[in-house]
Amino acid sequence: HPVDIRVPPSSLQPLKEHLEDNDISYSIMIKDVQVIGGAGEEGETKGLGVVWDDVSSRPLSPRHWWTTSRRRCSKGPASWYLLVAENPNLVSKLEIGRSTEDRPLYVLKVRGGTNRPAIWIDTGIHSREWVTQASGVWFAKKLQPWPPAEVTLPFQNRLWRKTRSTYSGSTCVGVDANRNWNSAFGESGASRNPCSETYHGPYPNSEPEVKAIVDFVSNHGNIKAFISIHSYSQLLLYAYGYTSTPHEIAEQAVTALSSLYGTSYEYGSIFTTIYQASGNSVDWTYDQGIKYSFTFELRDTGYYGFLLPASQIIPTAQETWLALKVIMQYTLEHPY
Ligand SMILES: [Zn+2]
Repeated sequence: HPVDIRVPPSSLQPLKEHLEDNDISYSIMIKDVQVIGGAGEEGETKGLGVVWDDVSSRPLSPRHWWTTSRRRCSKGPASWYLLVAENPNLVSKLEIGRSTEDRPLYVLKVRGGTNRPAIWIDTGIHSREWVTQASGVWFAKKLQPWPPAEVTLPFQNRLWRKTRSTYSGSTCVGVDANRNWNSAFGESGASRNPCSETYHGPYPNSEPEVKAIVDFVSNHGNIKAFISIHSYSQLLLYAYGYTSTPHEIAEQAVTALSSLYGTSYEYGSIFTTIYQASGNSVDWTYDQGIKYSFTFELRDTGYYGFLLPASQIIPTAQETWLALKVIMQYTLEHPY
């Protein structure tokens, strides 16, 4: 199995020697990560999510919610406040909790009623997956007449993946927010080591960011599709409990996605397509009865990886939108 690694300049020579001494072949994907910058050039984008509410109405009227779930933001996402301010009848904002660093976790709801059938979409649960947050902003623009401004945060560790919590017994920071859900918690595909990038946390829903969404979804009680957007690998995955329905939806969604720029996606259940990832969000939502539970892994397949150049944001968002529309339309036409 090939692996991608990032090497600080001081370790470059020793690593090359080590690889050559051991006859391990390698290639350089990106010479200088600093130069690439990519989607996070100006700073770290913020996690966000969306719920399209009222999927039972026809024609498909976008009633969406945005959550800005993440941390590390000193000012908050100006664009979303703008969305609310400019569209008081269309957009409203709801605080669903607080992060470990006491940042507000927002859901932005656009023209939703109370507990109508809804579709949830989140992006940026893993903060370094920049193209997802950027795409989320683009989706907002598709769903309401006034485009939001860019969401940019002060520079921090741009390749940070986990949450910001610490627990006694370790000085390592953070839990993998996509291994912390209460579905097969702590089983294969997650680590019990607090220093691991896939640390599952001390117990299910230990992370306030996860708990907030769990509570929101549970209390809402009428979310019909749950879509969690990650990067990278170009995959469309559904929950472990294999049925033919999500397979058919995924096939149609991927076909639509590929039609725009020819980007090829694989699809299948998380377990059979990539690896076991116990405690992930869509397995939990599937357990809750949300039949249409999907995870996207957006561009690319590893050449730029998390450092996808900014020039690929719009095309990525555009093609992903086509797949989202397939899922939304299917949900609309197949109520349960
Ligand atoms: Zn991810």
